[in-house]
Amino acid sequence: MLITTDGLVARVFDGSGTDRYIHLLTPTRGRLTVTIKNGQSGRASIASYTQLFTYGNYELYEKNKRYWLRNGSVAHTFYNLTTDLEKMALASYLCDLTCEMTNDEEGEETDPAEESGALLRMLLNALYVIHTGEKPMSIVKGVFELRAAAMAGYAPSVVGCALCHEGHPAESYLDVMNGRLICADCQTKRNRAGGMITQMQDNELGERSILLPLSSSVLAAVRYALGAQEKKIFSFTLKDKGEEAAFAKVAETFLLNHLERGFDTLDFYHSVKK
Ligand SMILES: [Zn+2]
Repeated sequence: MLITTDGLVARVFDGSGTDRYIHLLTPTRGRLTVTIKNGQSGRASIASYTQLFTYGNYELYEKNKRYWLRNGSVAHTFYNLTTDLEKMALASYLCDLTCEMTNDEEGEETDPAEESGALLRMLLNALYVIHTGEKPMSIVKGVFELRAAAMAGYAPSVVGCALCHEGHPAESYLDVMNGRLICADCQTKRNRAGGMITQMQDNELGERSILLPLSSSVLAAVRYALGAQEKKIFSFTLKDKGEEAAFAKVAETFLLNHLERGFDTLDFYHSVKK
């Protein structure tokens, strides 16, 4: 059966033979693994629309949930991200993350169309902003991670302190594993009562407790990232590199602890970050 779909080439990899494979992130079909027959021969006519970070329209032959590339055309390419190591590393990580969170068409559990469509739109938006360089990469990364976590059902509750309900604490902590906010005053009381410290440790139930400090402006950024309209998610600033780094650390730690995994591309991004 022939199908056509829009899609973003999120990953390109070779098999043991002469075939090449791409992960295509589509608006309505989730993530497809597509075989490019003899793709390692590098025929120029195929290469343009199968390059990494290319968004296009693809004609696929489908049989038993396997896909072979028939034809394609480029709508927009972000391939020039590959000329900047740091940009390429971040784009690769965000693509990996989206692939991880987008079901293969097989094994659909939730509504793949709606969720993968929203994730793909956010990914394209992020690639565009990384490409233009108009926003610090730590902000793009952090917003993406927080919203991806929320889409996966792990949105932290940051309206106010979970214990005293203070809505505007000057200093607070994100309680990562419980997905809640604890203000510094309440945490001080807990420390006195239970001898807890503000770093990772085992609590009395043997569960990991990870508390990440949030200044009021980083808390505001977390709230903005989670609550903003889709088109405006990157439209905020933090006052300096230190706050941007704190925001990025909160987002990354929160997401990775809920996904319970890491990413090689994320390690690579950290190794080349300027
Ligand atoms: Zn409190």
